[in-house]
Amino acid sequence: MYQTRKPRGESSVTIIGAGIAGAWQALLFAQAGHDVTLHERGDASLTLSTSHWAGGMLAPWCETEVAEPVISRLGLRSLDLWRRELPDTAFNGSLVVAHARERADFERFAKMTLNHRRLDAADLAALEPSLEGRFREALFFADEGHVEPRRVLPKLHEKIIAAGGTIHFNSDVSASEVDGLVIDCRGLFARDAQPELRGVKGEMILIETGEVELRRPVRLIHPRWPLYVIPREKNLFMLGATSIETEDTGVSVRSALELLGAAYAVHPAFAEARILEFGSGLRPAFPDNLPRIAINGDSIAVNGLYRHGFLIAPALAELTLGFVARGQIDNEVMQCA
Ligand SMILES: Cc1cc2nc3c(=O)[nH]c(=O)nc-3n(C[C@H](O)[C@H](O)[C@H](O)COP(=O)(O)OP(=O)(O)OC[C@H]3O[C@@H](n4cnc5c(N)ncnc54)[C@H](O)[C@@H]3O)c2cc1C
Repeated sequence: MYQTRKPRGESSVTIIGAGIAGAWQALLFAQAGHDVTLHERGDASLTLSTSHWAGGMLAPWCETEVAEPVISRLGLRSLDLWRRELPDTAFNGSLVVAHARERADFERFAKMTLNHRRLDAADLAALEPSLEGRFREALFFADEGHVEPRRVLPKLHEKIIAAGGTIHFNSDVSASEVDGLVIDCRGLFARDAQPELRGVKGEMILIETGEVELRRPVRLIHPRWPLYVIPREKNLFMLGATSIETEDTGVSVRSALELLGAAYAVHPAFAEARILEFGSGLRPAFPDNLPRIAINGDSIAVNGLYRHGFLIAPALAELTLGFVARGQIDNEVMQCA
């Protein structure tokens, strides 16, 4: 899988875009002793970035239902890097449940995925007491994790600074203005350089209730989208996510009904929850929905993270660093001009 080229060895590195891709690149390069400057055109709240809207599930085994093996490979390595850099990352596993009418889809999901354990109703109630009596069985992916994007991105930014890096918010930069090695992590905004990128809309809803307690993401088998409920701090839950081939960023009535319906199907007490936010993000995707590290002289573009940015960004950063430091090429992910 690996070839090598002459190492490049630049010490100064400019990274454009402080979403999840750019944040991990900046962190690993700063830790490796490079002089890192990270530019982000938005402010520190990162509401301009797709990463702000994400679920933050670190679910390489659940994703094997729909994703290529390369996503599992990058995802498994990334779990180690999340553990290493942010040891308080929640690794409570994830649950997959279905109602009786989706039974066949549930069985199909079980066959398509690995590293899960079947739970009966009693096991499920022991693991998540709020779900007592709700489902006859569930799949438990014990080794999966989740992060809260709006908390974890600032933590990564702090670690970049602690490792000696510099971050400039409200700094809209173009690769042509910068000398030396540039790592372009602009997500969907990089279409001037990578016109084949497209946006795939994901809608989400944030709700609040003290009536339900969950320790891990719960996916509900659904005929069209993997709908899920993810617990956040302070009685908040994120409901996600649709996957629609459009770059309109509104949240439709139909999607809202389906997301809220999924929450209600997981637990009827969600019906009394307060709706805090409707939102959507555009997942940056190439036509094959696979990530790419495109290397062209002094410019490296890391993009196409699609629905797996949190899952695979750490491993992509490690591969980019491996190329710059040792000339190592990963044929599955890298493209050299
Ligand atoms: C609803 C939803 C749920 C999701 N759930 C999950 C999940 O559970 N797990 C998972 O792994 N993934 C999930 N994803 C996918 C994940 O969010 C994306 O893969 C990821 O956010 C892409 O990250 P990125 O850093 O490539 O792009 P972005 O997050 O968009 O970051 C790009 C950044 O570049 C900045 N920028 C652009 N142009 C410039 C410029 N000229 N100068 C400076 N800065 C610039 C932008 O402002 C932006 O902050 C989800 C996505 C959505 C929408």
